[in-house]
This record gives sequence, C-alpha cells and structure tokens, in this order.
Amino acid sequence: MLVLGFFVLGLIIGSFLNVVVLRIESDETLGGRSKCPSCGALIRWFDNVPVVSYFILGRRCRYCRASISWQYPAVELLTGILFAFFGSLEFGSGAPADLAAIAWTLFLIALLTTIAVYDARNMEIPLILLVLGIGGAIVYAFASSALAPFSWTDGLAPWRSMLFGGGLAAFIFSLLVYFSKETWMGMGDAWLAGIAGAAVGFPALLLLFTLSFSTGALVGGALMLSGKRGMKSQIPFAPFLAFATLATLAIQALDPEWLFLVLLPV
Ligand SMILES: [Zn+2]
Repeated sequence: MLVLGFFVLGLIIGSFLNVVVLRIESDETLGGRSKCPSCGALIRWFDNVPVVSYFILGRRCRYCRASISWQYPAVELLTGILFAFFGSLEFGSGAPADLAAIAWTLFLIALLTTIAVYDARNMEIPLILLVLGIGGAIVYAFASSALAPFSWTDGLAPWRSMLFGGGLAAFIFSLLVYFSKETWMGMGDAWLAGIAGAAVGFPALLLLFTLSFSTGALVGGALMLSGKRGMKSQIPFAPFLAFATLATLAIQALDPEWLFLVLLPV
C-alpha cells in the first residue's frame, strides 16, 4: 500500500512538474488552469489524469487534435516510479527523522526532474530552481541535525557531510566552468553540482562524479556518432547530474558497503 501511495503521489507531482517547466519557459505564474498549447482550450479534469489521459485521448488534444508530447506521461511515470522507490525504501519506522529524510528526498526528486527536463529543452537551468534547491538543502541540514542525535563515533555529522560535499562539488565544477570558459558547462551546472554534492554527502561524492561524467560522455559520444550532435555542439549536463545523484542515493540506501567497493576497488 505504501508503495502504491507514493507512486500515485509521484504521478500527481510529475504532472505538476510538467506545468512548472512550461510556465517558467513562457514566463507565466503557476496559477490558472492548464490549456492546450496549440488551441488554448482549457483542459478538463478528466482529461488531466496523469499517464492515463494521454493514452485515452489517443495522444492528441480532444479539441484540436494536435499531438501531445510524450514528455508529459514520461515525466509523470518517472516521478511516480522514483517516489515509489525512494519513499518506501526510506520509510523505516516512520519516526520524525525518517519522515524528514523522505520529505527531503521527494523534494530533491521533484527538483532534479524539473531541472533535468528544463535543461534538456532549453540548455539552461532557471535560477529560481537553484535557489529552491539550495534553500531546501539548508533546511534539511538543520532539520536532520535537530531530529537525529549524533555521536562523534558515527563519522561526519549529516550537516557537515552536506556542507563539505556540496561545497567541494560546487568548487570543482566552478573550476571546470572557469577553465573551459563555459564551453563544457555553465555556472548553473556548478550550482546544481553543489546541491547534488550536499544531497549525497562527502564520501559518496566520488561516485557522483564518476557516474555523471561517464554517463555524460557515453550519451554525448553516442549522439555525436549518430550524427545528431556535432563535435562542437553543447550537451545539457543537468540530466546526467540528476541521474548520478539519484543513483548514488539509491546505492547508499540499498547497501552502503557496495558503495565503498565501487569507490575503493581492491
Ligand atoms: Zn488543442
């Protein structure tokens, strides 16, 4: 039941994230009902059910028959699956510290998904989303320290791990941005790396870097080979950072020992 609850919540949030991306692109506020981007018809509630409506409507607008982008159901389904996975994994005993961790992780999933989709479409990361992410990380750092008593034998305190991981990641990415003169990535990516580094914490930072750069290089290389992108064209980096962050968090949550085998191959 818990898994299903988180899945449905993710579908609904995913539907909202699609709206956020479109409204930031068109400089609109979040208020007001959704309209068809082609004919402007208001979308009725029964045509706005996540994933389901897309297929019932035959992937077309009910009124003007313009085709609906596959991005909508894809983002909804992805958010639903990620919410179900992380939500049920981190639920634990349902103690306040667990619930704070879930709230932060679900916030992070929503934020990273929005940033990744926006960056893939526009090759930039909206400042408002970065500010939200940094604010969320600071709030969670305080909340987790207050809720979970910490003993020094555990290693780095959560907020220290977040601060150190986030600071180091943002610093390294800033150097990459500076020395590549913004040809590899932009300052938005450096801020996002700071949020990602804070999310995974200090020792897992290495895995975050390995995963984001290797998947970025693989997909970028594949796009060039297929002729879809030239040698000089930029490839948005946020989707790879988002993927690497959530993959690192999943590995941490599932089996931290495996993480250290990857980090320190014997
Ligand atoms: Zn329409």
